[in-house]
Formats: sequence, structure tokens, C-alpha cells
Amino acid sequence: MPTNAIAAVLRQRGAPYALEPVVLADPRPGQILVRIRACGICHTDVGVQTYEQGLPLPQVLGHEGAGEVLAIGAGVTTVVPGDRVVLSYASCGACANCVDDAPQYCAQFMALNYAGVLPGGEVPMQGADGPVHGAFFGQSSFASHALAYERNTVKVDGDLGWDVLAPFGCGMQTGAGTVYNTLAPSAGQSLAVFGAGSVGLAALMAAADLGCAPLVAIDRNPARLELALQLGATHTLLADGRDLALALREIRADGMAFAVDTTGVAEVIRAGTEALAARGQMAVLAVTPPGTEVAINPNILLGGKALRGAVEGDADPRRFIPWLIGRHRAGRFAHQRLVTTYPFSAINEAVADMRAGRVIKPVLLMD
Ligand SMILES: [Zn+2]
Ligand SMILES: [Zn+2]
Repeated sequence: MPTNAIAAVLRQRGAPYALEPVVLADPRPGQILVRIRACGICHTDVGVQTYEQGLPLPQVLGHEGAGEVLAIGAGVTTVVPGDRVVLSYASCGACANCVDDAPQYCAQFMALNYAGVLPGGEVPMQGADGPVHGAFFGQSSFASHALAYERNTVKVDGDLGWDVLAPFGCGMQTGAGTVYNTLAPSAGQSLAVFGAGSVGLAALMAAADLGCAPLVAIDRNPARLELALQLGATHTLLADGRDLALALREIRADGMAFAVDTTGVAEVIRAGTEALAARGQMAVLAVTPPGTEVAINPNILLGGKALRGAVEGDADPRRFIPWLIGRHRAGRFAHQRLVTTYPFSAINEAVADMRAGRVIKPVLLMD
């Protein structure tokens, strides 16, 4: 029986969301119907809402869903109705990178996460006056119900609140995974995080967990730097136009062993590469506006330095998210301090607060 749901539908680029009734088909083979209890808002949602990126409209966004399994399609073996789950990005499981345990670089990543349609080309939802695109990150969780796949559905146990669980699906996985998986620093090694938003602070908490020192947070917002200190930063730098590479050299004369950029700002990425120590590594993870270019002197990379990109924290969500939840339970990853909750009906207020920097990680509660 098709499912009647309420979804936040984006009908025009730059417009606010409108809560509307939609109908979801029954889960097909490999699909999982989830009653969404909470969904975080990520910068990718804001980017798609704001800028033309080729995604078809009307569409339901949202890619940090958490909730309970209501029904499963044929062939699903790893979850059953009633299971508590976190939803993450989708991958095909069959391409060379998926087989090589790197689903974040799946050959079908764009088709499965950004196409707005199911793999067969079908539009997944029906609204009051026609089809509504979805399957955003294999979920579209700005809704009371979502259809996900087995590979992006992560079973979680225990009693953590939905607002705490939802951000694991993208933002926390991306920031923390870039440190735990991509850079993998050791205790006592230096690390700088550019940007103290939700992803940057997730990276910072992971680096603090691993014992990085000095551990430097850089941001334009003094209040966020204050929070970074509480979350484990040993130093902060206010990005007020000063030469950041020089300022980092004043903290660590021989340069930083690791750097993470979450800003996507060309001059910040350049400063990060200039601040690296010999054999230092910098990871970039932000999607930048088209046309962004970073000018660096290649000599900067001599000395065994590396500048690399990472998607979704180089994490396989079904393995990494339960592990990261374990760090949270152990008190080593206190990301609940980043969360501000809103009722689902206040989605536009939540987006406005996020854009204005008034909140770090807004999470919508669907009840
Ligand atoms: Zn794949
Ligand atoms: Zn995201």
C-alpha cells in the first residue's frame, strides 16, 4: 500500500520549502521505507536550494535522516521493520571502487545521490499536482517518510536521541572521517582546521580524540573559536584578514603536520598549503562554487607535502557510523553540543538561522 507522507518540497531555486503531502510507492527490491524522526540540515542542502546545480525540481532534499524501518523490499536482509537506523549517502556496491571498499568514490555516486530519480529513471514521489523528485542521497529525508537502500541504511542500537543520531549520516561522518580515516594523525602531531562550522568542529573533535597538538581552529567567528577551545582546540586563530600561514608558523615554527579545509575559500586553502610542515598533508572537503581556482607555487608541495580531496570522510557508513557512535558513547566525540533542534514545520527558520551563522547544526524533529 503506498505511503502518505508530508515532505518539505523545494519548487523553485532559492524559494523556501513548502510542507506538502506526497505519496511514496512501496519499497522495491533492495529498498527500505523509513519513518523519519529527525533530519539534520547540511550545507549541501543549502547549496542545492540556493544555486542552480542541475538538480530537477520540484524535489525533496535532506540527507541526514534518522528513524525507524517501517517496511523492507525483497532481498533486504540486514534490517527488519522496527529497527532504528541512520541514513547516509548511497553507493552501488558493484563498481571497482565499491568493490575496493571505497564506496565514497562510487562510479554511480552522482546518479544515486543527485539525479532526483530512482536508478531506473522513475520519479519516486507523487505530489498533489504531479511527480516530485527525490532519492536525494538515496533518501530525501526532509519528510515524514523516506525510501532508502540497504547500502546507505545503518542500523543503530541503544537509546541515543534522534537529534543526536541524525547528524552522523553526513556532516559528522565527513568531518570526523577526514581526520580518523583520511589523515590519520598520531598523538602529538599538529593539526589545523580551517572553518569551525559543524564539519570543521567534527574534524576538530576527532583530532582532539587522537591527541593532536598543537590543535588549531581557524574561523571568522569569535564565538565559534570559543566553542572550539571547549571541544579540544589548543589554539585558535581569528581569520580577520591576517596572514594565516604566518600566524600558524608562530604557533608551530616548522609547520603543521596536518590541515583540514572546510571552507572551500581559495585563499584559505592556499594559506593551509603554505603552513604545512615537511611531509605535511592537507585535506580539502568543501564543494566550491564553479570557477574557484587556487594559485599555489608548486614548490610549496616539495618536501613530501600532499594536498588531497576527500568525500564523506573516506568512510563506509555501515562500518564507520557505528564506530563513531562508539566514540560518542565513550565521551570522546561530543557533537551534541553543535545541535539545535527545530520542529519540522520550522524548516525555513532553521535554514535562515544556519545561513546567518546563528546555529551550527540545525536538526529537524519530525514529530
Ligand atoms: Zn559503486
Ligand atoms: Zn551533507
